[in-house]
Parts: sequence; C-alpha cells; structure tokens
Amino acid sequence: MNAPLNARIATHEVENQPPPFAGYNAWSGDAILRATVAREGAGWIADRAMAMGQLVGSERMRTLAELANRFTPQLRSHDRYGNRIDAVEFHPAYHELMGLAFGAGLHSVAWTARDAGFAARAALNYLWNQGENGTSCPVTMTFASLAPLEHEPALAREWMPKIVAEDYDPRPLPLAEKRAVTIGMAMTEKQGGSDLRANTTRAEPAGGGAYALTGHKWFCSAPMCDAFLTLARTDAGLTCFLVPRSLADGTRNVFLIQRLKDKLGNKSNASSEIEFAGTLGWRVGDEGRGIATVIEMAHLTRFDIVIASAGMMRAALNEAMHHAAHRSAFGRRLAEQPLMKNVLADLALEWEAATLTAFRLARAFDRQKSDRHEQLVCRLGVPVAKYWLCKRTPAVALEAMECLGGNGYVEEGALARLYREAPVNGIWEGSGNVICLDVLRAMARSPDAVDALAAEIEPAAKAEPRLARFVAGLKRDLDDRATLETQARRVVEKLALALQASLMVQHASPEAADAFCATRLDARTGAVFGTLPASANIDAILRRAALE
Ligand SMILES: Cc1cc2nc3c(=O)[nH]c(=O)nc-3n(C[C@H](O)[C@H](O)[C@H](O)COP(=O)(O)OP(=O)(O)OC[C@H]3O[C@@H](n4cnc5c(N)ncnc54)[C@H](O)[C@@H]3O)c2cc1C
Repeated sequence: MNAPLNARIATHEVENQPPPFAGYNAWSGDAILRATVAREGAGWIADRAMAMGQLVGSERMRTLAELANRFTPQLRSHDRYGNRIDAVEFHPAYHELMGLAFGAGLHSVAWTARDAGFAARAALNYLWNQGENGTSCPVTMTFASLAPLEHEPALAREWMPKIVAEDYDPRPLPLAEKRAVTIGMAMTEKQGGSDLRANTTRAEPAGGGAYALTGHKWFCSAPMCDAFLTLARTDAGLTCFLVPRSLADGTRNVFLIQRLKDKLGNKSNASSEIEFAGTLGWRVGDEGRGIATVIEMAHLTRFDIVIASAGMMRAALNEAMHHAAHRSAFGRRLAEQPLMKNVLADLALEWEAATLTAFRLARAFDRQKSDRHEQLVCRLGVPVAKYWLCKRTPAVALEAMECLGGNGYVEEGALARLYREAPVNGIWEGSGNVICLDVLRAMARSPDAVDALAAEIEPAAKAEPRLARFVAGLKRDLDDRATLETQARRVVEKLALALQASLMVQHASPEAADAFCATRLDARTGAVFGTLPASANIDAILRRAALE
C-alpha cells in the first residue's frame, strides 16, 4: 500500500529524467565566482553570500519564483465603495521574495559597507538573479536612488535610513510610520521615451518647498514603492522630483495607476501607466538639471543590469549542465556527447567573461571616488558592458533552453521564464542604440576614458597576439570619426570583447582564455554557441565551470 504511486501505475516507469535541480549552494559551488569576488576585495561577504547561495539553490526559492511569476500582480484601482486606492495586489510569494531580498541587504550593502561595498553587493545580486528576476527591479531602483538623493541633504537625511534598512515593509503608510521603504522611478512618457527632453509633465510651486505635478508616465515599474524619482518641467526646465505615495499627514498622494502592462516576461514585477494630477513632489538637485540628476541613478541601474545579466547567464548554464549530466540520448549521457560538450563549454566561456567584466566594474565603483583611472573605467565600461551582456543574455538563455530539449520549453522549468525575462534588460535603462550613443558621448566628452580602457587591456594584449591585433583594428575603427555613429554597435561590441578578452587572459584558465580569444576575436568563427574549434580544451573548460 505504501509503495510510491509510480510503482503502482502499470503504463510506464519514469526514467532518464534528471533529478530536481535543487539543494545546491550557488555561492560555495561556484569557484570562479568566489575567486572573482575575493580578487575584487569583497571576500568578507562570504557568510552572507553563503546564505544567499543556499537560498538561491533551494527548492523553496524555485517555488516562490514560479508562484510569483505565474500569479501575476493585479491592479485594484478602486475599493468596493468606489474610492480610488491605486493599489497593486501581489501573490504572497512575491512579498516573501521581497522580504528575503531586502532583508538580506541586496539593495543597500554597497552604501552601508565600509570596504568594497559595491563588489560585495554585486555578489549578492549576481546570486539573487539566478533565482528570481522580477523582484530585482525594485531592488535595483532602491539601490540606485541614493545617488540622486545625495544632492538633497535634507531629503536624504529623512529618507536614507529607511532606504538602506535591511527590511521590507509593504504597508502603504507615510515615511515616519514605515520600518523600511522602496523607491521607484518614473521617467518614460508616451511622446518622449529615451529622449527625456520631450517630457511634458509640469511642476508648479505649491508652497512649503513642495511642487504640484501634472502629467503622465508611460512606464512606471513597481508602483507600490513608497516614493518615485521623476522628471517634470518647471520654468527652468526639466527637474528631478521625489514623489512619495503617502504624505506626512497620512493621506495618499495623487498617483493614478491607469493600467498594468501585459508584458512578455518580468511577470512578477508590476509595471504601470500612471498619471499625476496636482501630485506633490519635492525637488532633487537643481531646477533645470533634472536629466543630469537622474543620469547618476541610470548609471547605477545600468551597472546593476550588468551584474544581473552575468547571474542570469550562470543560472542558464547551471540548468543546462545539470540536465546534460543526467539525461542520456543515443547511448551516452548528454554531458559526454562531443557536440553537447562543445555547446556547454561555449556557454561557459560567455558566462565567465561576463562575470569577470561585471565584477571588474564593481571594483571601479568601489574605487572611483579616489582614483581617476577607476572613474574613467566606470564611465565607459558600464555602457559598454550593459550593451554587450544584454545582447548576449537572451542568446545564452535560448541555447541553454535548447540543451534541455522539450523540457526547456515548458513553463514549469526555470529556463522558459529566464528566456522571456532575458530581453528586458536590453530594453529598459537605455535600449541598445541609446547605450551605444552614450558610449560615443562618453568618448567625446572624456577622451581619456578611451585611454583608461586601453591601459586596462594593454598588459593582456602584450601577452596575447590575437588580442593585440584585435585592439589595433579597433583603434582604426575609433579613428574613423565620420562613420562612428553608424558603426557604433560594431565599435561597442569590439570594446566589450577586447575588455572581456583581457580579463580572460589575466584571470581565466589558459584553456578558457585561449578558446575565448580563438572564437570571440576571430571573425571566422561561428555565429552561434557550440562552435569552439577542435583545438579547444573543452573538458578543462567544463571542469572549471561545473558547480562543486
Ligand atoms: C518592462 C518595462 C519596465 C519599465 N519600467 C520603467 C520604469 O519603471 N520607469 C521608467 O521611467 N521607464 C520604464 N520603462 C521604460 C523604458 O526605460 C523605455 O521603454 C526605454 O527607455 C526605451 O524608451 P521607449 O520605449 O520610449 O523607446 P524609444 O525611445 O522610442 O526607442 C525605440 C528604439 O529606438 C532606438 N533609438 C532611440 N533613439 C535613437 C537614436 N538617436 N538613434 C538610433 N536609435 C535610437 C532605441 O534604442 C530603441 O531601440 C520600462 C520598460 C519596460 C519594457
């Protein structure tokens, strides 16, 4: 009577399916991650990272992620008596995830740590993005909000302690009554989009230092955050404001949520269309300097997207390697089939290069205040990496999904969700072309940023002739000023590959660095994953990438 149900069903035994992929530690099992984080000065985060790694590798995390994305947020514009409440209801799994993320300081360690806070926080965020991605949106915005707020010491004094609090308090209450707050941003308008200069929302002085805002925003994610950085036009021009959802007197600020977006992926995260109608906001930064103020936040969110993308690549690779290790086809495990090994090793190279790039930038953030070189690496490196990693993540997710065959395409598994999630990082916070144009702008305004990146790459190029040749070609492209704008994607891709190759030469195994240079710097190699040359030491690459 107590035999498992499978044993009592006559039709078939379930065989040749992998065991559930859970019960691993995404931190302690990832030797390359641990070495990278230690090298960038944040080895001290190991205990927290261990706890996060265990969570991310647990069945509980999988269940929460699946539930929060299957049962999507619902808009409750009015209560049952017809009063506007402009609330979004989430599945309890979303709130549990938010509690785990904010409770772990995922949003704040960069600001509260004494040393290497950006690299330490990056380790946590990299791990988190292997488990769930929709919650990363409010986490990232809350993390990044502190940069513009530093311009307004009075507002910062009020808000900062509750922004960095390691806690999650979703109650719709005024700041004074909250244990912790989350911050969003509302920039994008229907007619404006990337071109923020076309924004039309107006702000009029309303007394007591407040302004009354009137207008709309076409995209506003995580609308249940406690306050939003937004742009509105005063007589002096576009200005940044902090718009709280609750006012100090206990009433709700006017914040009309018109609709929730029905998105391709990123399902657990609510994204909305909102309207301001006499909505109260407080100025952040100088009047007329709104774009310059919010760009500081965008720089941080772009960096966070780089970290998230590297984590998502790791998640995809893990799923593919786990499946291949346990599934057999045509007489051998997939992990032993030469062509599958080529695909997995190629994915592993992409992930390792992404990870080294992401954490190199984390170090630049940690040191930029006192080191001009790091500041320049940061300025140019962030958009270069944001562009390239966001372009590569959907391709990695697609190929990893294919490694699982039909199982990969089914919603119960993590890869279908990861695949639908993957493109959004390339679209928000600057779409591909906009980011490439930002790279050109950075190079034009700070020509020494190109020198700083060249100095980063030079030692590796001296040791690796293929990189030296690649860099020489890149320099010719950069010198051709007349075609730079039409060629911007080509140039940014090359900048990314040169930086990645230099990091691989310095820090990866000789086998991985050699295969990376052979396939990423040489135009004759394949356009898809799984095209490593016969000379590549695939077994060595896979050994290093495997979870311990
Ligand atoms: C899920 C989701 C959530 C979002 N959440 C928020 C949020 O919380 N807050 C917020 O403010 N915004 C949010 N956004 C908006 C997002 O930041 C914008 O969609 C993005 O900035 C692009 O703007 P757009 O959609 O208006 O496209 P456009 O600006 O119209 O761009 C369309 C295309 O044209 C390209 N392009 C633009 N200018 C040029 C040029 N000069 N040369 C060549 N190509 C160009 C772009 O790269 C893009 O590919 C969200 C978007 C999504 C999808």
